[in-house]
Amino acid sequence: MTFSRREFIKWLSASAAIAGNSGCATATTPKSAGRVVVIGGGFAGATAAKYIRMWGPDIEVTLVERDQEFVSCPLSNRVLAGVIQLRELTRDYGKLHAKHGVKVVRDEVVSIEADRQEVKLASGSTLQYDRLIVAPGVDILADEVPGLAAASDRVLHAWKAGPQTVALRKQLEAMPDGGVYALTVPKAPYRCPPGPYERACQVAWYFKTHKPRSKVLILDANEDVVSKKGLFTKAWTDRYAGMVEYRPNSELMAVEGGSLTAKLAFEDVKADVLNVVPPQRAGKVALDAGLVNANNRWCGVDFLTYESTAVKNVHVLGDAIMAAPQMPKSGHMANQHAKVCAAAVVALLHGEQVNSQPLLTNTCYSFVSDKDVIHVASVHSYNPEKKTMEIVQGASGVSAAASELEGQYAEAWGRNIWADMLA
Ligand SMILES: Cc1cc2nc3c(=O)[nH]c(=O)nc-3n(C[C@H](O)[C@H](O)[C@H](O)COP(=O)(O)OP(=O)(O)OC[C@H]3O[C@@H](n4cnc5c(N)ncnc54)[C@H](O)[C@@H]3O)c2cc1C
Repeated sequence: MTFSRREFIKWLSASAAIAGNSGCATATTPKSAGRVVVIGGGFAGATAAKYIRMWGPDIEVTLVERDQEFVSCPLSNRVLAGVIQLRELTRDYGKLHAKHGVKVVRDEVVSIEADRQEVKLASGSTLQYDRLIVAPGVDILADEVPGLAAASDRVLHAWKAGPQTVALRKQLEAMPDGGVYALTVPKAPYRCPPGPYERACQVAWYFKTHKPRSKVLILDANEDVVSKKGLFTKAWTDRYAGMVEYRPNSELMAVEGGSLTAKLAFEDVKADVLNVVPPQRAGKVALDAGLVNANNRWCGVDFLTYESTAVKNVHVLGDAIMAAPQMPKSGHMANQHAKVCAAAVVALLHGEQVNSQPLLTNTCYSFVSDKDVIHVASVHSYNPEKKTMEIVQGASGVSAAASELEGQYAEAWGRNIWADMLA
């Protein structure tokens, strides 16, 4: 049998069409199951973007992040002790695109137009979505403490790892031996419950080894140590006796920047280095979009999908959510929210049922010296009657004692979670 040129071309096109319909591998792009836009490339957003692509390769995912690189808050208190450099906590976003096909856009989302299912970027462009994931972390509310915003060049928070972490380290290095470092802790809930107490240990370790006549003063707005109380208290009394002082019920009312004074309800405390961790709220982009509907601070979500209880087709993750009882605002927990949400978004875009029994874990390590570490861990399951997450009975606990072995676990935890999000 012989073919004319025209017949041959017709035959080729027909074969290609049959191959496409029968599911044979062809070079054609598969039909998209939907478009997902993720706001924020932190522990929650980067994980969600990667896992949606892994579990739903037919879904288009665009991640919008305003920073060039990811810098980890976990382990950043060690920069203050001079044990590590910030660069060791910094990773790029390259593999999210190269390995997982996430479109990474370096820009800032300035508004969410939920009725049109689109977001507007600072650069002026617009992105359309079928499902939006909002993971902006927290905003630091310096304006809630009179005098703080005006003193922001001298009174640092360093509660977002970055330039402030390095600047606070410099203040500690410049402080004379015999000086006072005062750290204020806001009322819970705030980002990383054990974080301030770990910071006090890290600064105390630095002082003990370099400026032994100095003092660490913890001014806590809470009535007691919020996390790992027994273990932190033991570190302060055994390792840093006479150096660390803990004062509960010490809410910061105002700051006097010139004299580095923390004004409390009944006393004024003057410091040589004043480090204020201010109250926090879900990132501004969530507030402006009407997603903040709990205590004027946090975003209510459905714990099966992390869909907002305020706006349809919009999911909120990480520190920005109104957490369930005993669910900490941690990087580990943000990574777990992201996986439950990623699975739910993939299911919803394919018209499938979402998992009705999600299970979350959390582990938070804290360095009490340059090497010794303590942890708190918990498992959380969904309670369908109360529609919330609860700690599984018997599935939570803390270290028996600080150890170097846990120090190795903590460093491995960091490497693993950064790889899980970004590699
Ligand atoms: C000192 C310290 C120590 C900590 N230690 C631990 C620890 O040991 N273990 C642990 O699990 N957790 C720890 N945490 C807590 C952890 O850092 C947070 O819980 C975690 O970062 C929350 O993740 P997230 O994705 O919600 O927010 P983030 O990680 O803050 O990510 C939010 C991202 O969104 C971006 N973004 C915000 N708005 C926009 C916008 N409009 N457009 C584009 N991008 C935007 C931001 O640039 C940022 O990259 C610590 C925190 C601190 C401060």
